[in-house]
Amino acid sequence: MISELSGKLFIGGAWVNGAGGRIPVENPATGDVVGEIAASTVDEVNSAVAAARAAFRPWADLPPRLRAAALKRLGTLIAADADRMARIMTLEQGKPLNEARGEILKLGEACHFYAEEAVRVHGEIIPNDTNDHQSLVIREPIGVVGAITPWNYPAELVGWKLCASLAAGCTIVIKPADLTPFTALAIAQKVEESGIPAGVVNVVTGPGSVVGQALVEHPDVDKIAFTGSSKVGLQIQQSATTVKRMSLELGGNCPLIVTATADLDAAVKGAARRSFRNMGQICIAINRVYVARAVYDEFLAKLKVAAEKLTIGNGIETPDADLGAMASAAPLAKTREHLADALAKGATLVTGGSAPEGAIYARGHFFRPTVVAGCSHDMKVMSEETFGPLIGVMPFDGLDEAIAHANDTPYGLASYVYAKDMDEVRYLTTRLDYGNVAVNNVDAGVMNAPYGGRKQSGVGYEHGREGMLEYMNFKHIRVRTDDPKGR
Ligand code: NAD
Repeated sequence: MISELSGKLFIGGAWVNGAGGRIPVENPATGDVVGEIAASTVDEVNSAVAAARAAFRPWADLPPRLRAAALKRLGTLIAADADRMARIMTLEQGKPLNEARGEILKLGEACHFYAEEAVRVHGEIIPNDTNDHQSLVIREPIGVVGAITPWNYPAELVGWKLCASLAAGCTIVIKPADLTPFTALAIAQKVEESGIPAGVVNVVTGPGSVVGQALVEHPDVDKIAFTGSSKVGLQIQQSATTVKRMSLELGGNCPLIVTATADLDAAVKGAARRSFRNMGQICIAINRVYVARAVYDEFLAKLKVAAEKLTIGNGIETPDADLGAMASAAPLAKTREHLADALAKGATLVTGGSAPEGAIYARGHFFRPTVVAGCSHDMKVMSEETFGPLIGVMPFDGLDEAIAHANDTPYGLASYVYAKDMDEVRYLTTRLDYGNVAVNNVDAGVMNAPYGGRKQSGVGYEHGREGMLEYMNFKHIRVRTDDPKGR
């Protein structure tokens, strides 16, 4: 399954054996090597960009309904192959098989959503100062997109860029994360099957600092669509050698506020899901929780029970486990570091704090869902993105205090509120400085609405109509007409 993709690049509609060195890809649940990727050479990156450039004009000139039909075919093929593709994802990323399957199916839905959007790209006619002039504003695809993606959602984070690009009429070169390249290559197999013309979609693999950077610096790449850390996002913004459009979906440090009027059971359920799902390796994961003092002890007691109920397993052998392995040693080490920092600064351990015991966990990157309480903002868990199954909790005495704590961060991706009182809901949602605020639920991103961060969490949007407009330029056509002679 993976062996047929090992060392392969997808350039100009052909599967190429990468000429560069090989980088092993491990199953994070066992440490076994599942395949190798090629470190793409400069020539290969140039070939992929050239293929995308050559394919651009014909693809952009297709009537939108034909691009929509291609995206519909792609979505249907992906959904039909969800079992195989999910297995590939679990083997390289660690999340349980059922969850991986759910992500593949959502990628299929994204293809269908953008197929529908493709035929709804409207322009505007704007009145001028005199009636003999009219301003027409039309939208045109930007051109060649370089997409650079992380490892936590290997299908969706590639897919949102791919679908919106293709719907808009752009062509794309994808550079997936080194940890999870095979899901992207499996998506390219579906692109090939769907009959999307050669060169419209290309995949190159290899280290971000070389292959990703080559796309950023490439003069023939018109836009970079990046999801990843704020550090690399800033570096990308600063290192582009030509002016190009960028959308940067970056890191977060997301707060949850639980007021005294909240449905506490719902808040606990939401907190356990959004803090620990995918082992906390979610940009919109809840990192820190502020609880009204009146319900603080009860919330902690219930959260401890909810966290301890979550099952952990090898994602292939236990497809329905709540949690799988973390994707690599690095996020696990950071989780341990943030935990040690909190405990050294006076936090108390409510639950978790170590790897689960047993032979099945011995070789993988596993950790138990961990809650620390009595936290303060000098602790890393409250101020930095942990990207692991660890959350810090602290009490608050008034809504203004909760808001001040929640906004006390350079990040602005997602925030969460549990409250039943609508006055509280309005007060909090209008003051939280975040691109996404979820109230009495923890699904801050849905396909139909724009999703993006503020501050160091990024610029630009994915999802929704706005997500497609990120791949389009406006063109203003100002037309003068005279009354016809001899009318
Ligand atoms: P990362 O920034 O280390 O890497 C992301 C991608 O960038 C990878 O493909 C990597 O190879 C590439 N890259 C690295 N250096 C590069 C360079 N100099 N030039 C070009 N490309 C380069 O991030 P990661 O560890 O893979 O992912 C975790 C991060 O992603 C977290 O911070 C998380 O919050 C963020 N994230 C954000 C969102 C969002 O929607 N805002 C979604 C998921 C993940």
